[in-house]
Amino acid sequence: PAARKYTGMVEDCCCEYETVDSINEEVLHPILQELVKLPFFRYFKVKLWCDCPFWPDDGMCQLRDCTVCECPDNEFPEPFKKPYSGLSPDNMICQEGKPQAAVDKTLDSKVFKGWVETDNPWTSDDETDFNEMTYVNLQLNPERYTGYTGDSARRIWDSIYKENCPKYPSEELCHEKKALYKLISGLHSSISVHIAYDYLVDKSTNSWGQNLPLLYDRVLKYPERVQNLYFTYLFVLRAVTKAADYLEQAEYNTGNPEDDLKTQSLVKQLLYHPKLRSACPKPFDEAKLWQGENGPELKQEIQKQFRNISAIMDCVGCEKCRLWGKLQVLGLGTALKILFSVDGDNHLNQPLQLQRNEVIALFNLLNRLSESVKFVHEKGSSIEEVIKEQ
Ligand code: FAD
Repeated sequence: PAARKYTGMVEDCCCEYETVDSINEEVLHPILQELVKLPFFRYFKVKLWCDCPFWPDDGMCQLRDCTVCECPDNEFPEPFKKPYSGLSPDNMICQEGKPQAAVDKTLDSKVFKGWVETDNPWTSDDETDFNEMTYVNLQLNPERYTGYTGDSARRIWDSIYKENCPKYPSEELCHEKKALYKLISGLHSSISVHIAYDYLVDKSTNSWGQNLPLLYDRVLKYPERVQNLYFTYLFVLRAVTKAADYLEQAEYNTGNPEDDLKTQSLVKQLLYHPKLRSACPKPFDEAKLWQGENGPELKQEIQKQFRNISAIMDCVGCEKCRLWGKLQVLGLGTALKILFSVDGDNHLNQPLQLQRNEVIALFNLLNRLSESVKFVHEKGSSIEEVIKEQ
C-alpha cells in the first residue's frame, strides 16, 4: 500500500489520523451505516419551501435528481406525528432541596426526560417552527451529485465564508473563529466527497459511479480541506460521546418495538465501544474554547454567525442540496449546543435538552462525515497515480 499522507495528531484535536481511520472503519462506520437505515433515523422533519431572506431564489437545479421525495402521510412513524407529551421545562430543571452551589453528579442519572421542543440558540431552523414542515425519507434522497453548480452555488459558499467565517488570514484570529471556519470547511469537503463518490458519470445512460478526478480537484489536492474534514468529524464525535448519558436514555420510539430495540442497542454500542473509549477517549477538547477575557461575548458573536449560516441554507437553490445542507447544519448546531451548554468538567450548568430532529440530524451528520473520512482514506494515498494513469 502507498505511504500514508496524513500522520500524527489531527490539528487542534486529540487523536491521530491513524487512530481516526481505524476506529472509523472498524467501529463507527459499520454501526452508523446500520443505524441510519432504521426508521427512527430515516425520517427527517424539514421545511423545504422556504423564502430566502437574502436574495431571490434563482433555482439552478439541472437534474431531476435535485428534487426530494416527501413521505406520504402514512409512511413515517406514528409517534412522530403526536405532540410531545413530556414534562414542562420547569419540572425538568427542578432540583428540590439541593443547595444551589453544590454540584451533585446524581443529577445526571436520568438525563433524558422525553423529547422536548426547545429553541437551539445555534440554529435558525427549529422543530418548533411547524410552518410547512414535511417528513423526508433520507434513504430515498441520498446526498450525491445533483448538477447544482454555477453562480447560485458559488454565491452560497462565498457568503458563508466571506460574511460569516472569513478565512483566518494570520495568527490574529482566535481559536474559536478558526474552529468555526474549520467546521464549515470540513462540511464543505464532506459534501464534495459525496458528490465525487456518487456522480452521474454518463448522462446518456444514466449511470452513476465514482468521479476520482473530482475528489482530487476539490478535496485531496488541498491538505487543509482534508484536515478540516477530520477536524469536523472529531468535533461531532466528541459531541455525541459527551451527550452519551442523554443519548443512551433517549426514546427511540417509532411504534415498532423490534426496530426500536435495535436502534437503542446500536446507539449504546457506538457510545460505549471499548475501542473508541480507549483509542480516542476525547476526540476534541472543547474546554479550550471561550477561555479568554471576552469569552462570553465571543460565544454570542459566533453563535450569531452560525445562525446566519443556518439561515443561508434557505437560499440553496436545489431542493436535495437544501435538505442535506439543512440537516448537516442542524447537526453541527446540535454538536455546538451539546459541547457548549455543558461546562468543561462535565457538570451540567443547564440540563441538556435535545429535540428529536436534532438527534436525527446529529447521527446522520456523523454518518456522512464517517463515509467521507473512509473514502478519503481509501483513495487518499493512491489517487495521484490513478489520476496520472487516466
Ligand atoms: P465549490 O464547492 O462551490 O467551492 C467554492 C469555493 O469554495 C472554491 O472555489 C474554493 O475556493 C472554496 N472551497 C471549496 N472547498 C472548500 C473547503 N472544503 N474548504 C474551504 N474552502 C473550500 N452539489 C451537488 O451536486 N450535490 C449536493 O448534495 C450539494 N449540496 C450542496 C449543499 C450546499 C449547502 C451548497 C452551498 C452547495 C451544494 N452543492 C451540492 C453544490 C456544490 O457544493 C458545489 O458548489 C458545486 O458542485 C460547484 O463546485 P465548485 O467546484 O464550483 O466549488
